[in-house]
Amino acid sequence: MARYTGSVCRLCRRERMKLFLKGDRCFKEKCAIERRAYPPGQHGQRRGRRTLGYGLQLREKQRVKRIYGVLERQFRNYFKKADRKKGITGENLLIALESRLDNAVYSLGFGASRSQARQLVRHGHIHVNGQKVTIPSFEVSVNQVVSVKESSRKNDFIRASVETARGRGVPEWLELDAENFTGKVVSMPVRDQIKIPIQEQLIVELYSR
Ligand code: SF4
Repeated sequence: MARYTGSVCRLCRRERMKLFLKGDRCFKEKCAIERRAYPPGQHGQRRGRRTLGYGLQLREKQRVKRIYGVLERQFRNYFKKADRKKGITGENLLIALESRLDNAVYSLGFGASRSQARQLVRHGHIHVNGQKVTIPSFEVSVNQVVSVKESSRKNDFIRASVETARGRGVPEWLELDAENFTGKVVSMPVRDQIKIPIQEQLIVELYSR
């Protein structure tokens, strides 16, 4: 599967916002956005024009894709499903992305970033209701228990992530038992609990063109 292998900080700078792709570093002054808050490239500092219309809609879509680490085709499928569901399409889209297993693992603090969380899932470190699940896009549901596999709880990366994630807090739709490397889905996420500064309506407008 195609994947982006360049510097992830460039993506944040391109979107002119923190996408939190690098774990602990994103919360420190070493963050590239803190030091160079302009788009990358030779002409980055000259790109001062306000983005309007299509450009604005496109940037909003790219931001969400990059935050959740989803590629174009998969993102479009998420959109189609969200559009078919009852309710507000933009909210349905964000809720579906937020309910991904890799995002739940990141939100519980078992991974320092969503990409690290995805790797933990792929490598079989994560269980759902006691069963190994290796599909990062697996959709979690209410009352499911997401946990780190017993033998992986000594893993230095996971322990360090749990430690540093303490200050980050856990979203209301999840309940964390950090001592036992376990989290429970207490409800499905709602839009107000998704704290990313995104105008999802712009994505709906983009795909409705
Ligand atoms: Fe983005 Fe994190 Fe890099 Fe900052 S440190 S630019 S938030 S990936």
